[in-house]
Amino acid sequence: MAYLTLRNINKIYPNGFHAVHDFNLEIEKGEFIVFVGPSGCGKSTTLRMIAGLEDISKGEFLIDGQLANQWGPRQRGISMVFQSYALFPNMTVFDNLAFGLNLQGVDEDEIENRVNKTAKILGLTDYLDRMPRALSGGQRQRVAVGRSIIRKVGVFLMDEPLSNLDAKQRVTMRSEITQIHRETGASTIYVTHDQTEAMTMADRIVVMKAGYVQQVGTPREVYFNPRNVFVAGFIGEPPMNFVRLPVKGGKVSMNGQEMDLRKRLGEKIAKYDGKEVIVGFRPEASVPDNGENGENVYRLYGDVELTEMLGDNANVYMNIGPHRVILKVAPDGIPEMDSVYKFMIPVDKVYLFDAETEMVID
Ligand code: ATP
Repeated sequence: MAYLTLRNINKIYPNGFHAVHDFNLEIEKGEFIVFVGPSGCGKSTTLRMIAGLEDISKGEFLIDGQLANQWGPRQRGISMVFQSYALFPNMTVFDNLAFGLNLQGVDEDEIENRVNKTAKILGLTDYLDRMPRALSGGQRQRVAVGRSIIRKVGVFLMDEPLSNLDAKQRVTMRSEITQIHRETGASTIYVTHDQTEAMTMADRIVVMKAGYVQQVGTPREVYFNPRNVFVAGFIGEPPMNFVRLPVKGGKVSMNGQEMDLRKRLGEKIAKYDGKEVIVGFRPEASVPDNGENGENVYRLYGDVELTEMLGDNANVYMNIGPHRVILKVAPDGIPEMDSVYKFMIPVDKVYLFDAETEMVID
């Protein structure tokens, strides 16, 4: 049985705003779940309902099979790290880490033992006597994480814990948090609006938009099999290219280049002929056109507007007729600006979405 169960969870704030709609999820012991989505989509609200800091308006929340809607935060065995971590400024790192254990009445030897162990995991051993003001932002963030993981709990909740760090520190802390997660064996729910964090850390990702869950899946599933345009565009950097095209005689055409959809759409072709579909392809799906005849490729060309050399690859911004797209190319294959660039997309890497519902057409 799942360790945590969220069944049709809803949040309606006192002002009537419906922030979370019918959220369903089962979380196993030891799983690392990431809630991802743009600002305001309801990630923090859901996390706070799980923590017991916010009432659940409708739905059931179960811990280990027991209805926990009415349980207080302590009873839930959950520990939370907030975005704006508050350390006690007048206490040393040691005392900051020990604070929660002191409150619980844990004996001194045990506190010392656990503080030392936590400090070791987080690389804070040399800083235990320091005051927070004498630490870097990254070190303070570690103390905040440490205050959470020092407690022996079944679930860790983390709300954008890396938001105050610079790019390099984020990368380091990302792997540290996943490692700590593995060592503790607890379930972790991690909230972020950063799709890279979601992709690199999660066992499963929950993609949210405007209070609704859009898709739940492993990083591979949400990347390779997005359910709709929103998920396809949110996961992946640079985002997937989308082009709205009318279907005529079972074909779509971009800049005069045709792609036959009859095989792809099968019987659904009747439904789409004369209507629009959204054609999607990822920047990294393109390959230079080598001139060979290929049955299973969609050949395209366009005008190169701008290129960005990033080191291991380059972004190419181009216009295919009226459609603006981005391609990712190898650094030795960067086309000249203002030139015409010919490329191919393998047809199995072309996604089709219903233009009205924005759902994927399989
Ligand atoms: P962010 O990434 O910006 O933290 P989020 O996805 O965590 O966003 P929430 O903080 O869960 O989003 O907020 C979801 C929605 O609920 C937002 O539109 C927000 O304005 C609204 N909201 C949050 N708290 C309240 C409240 N106390 N009363 C009314 N509406 C609220």
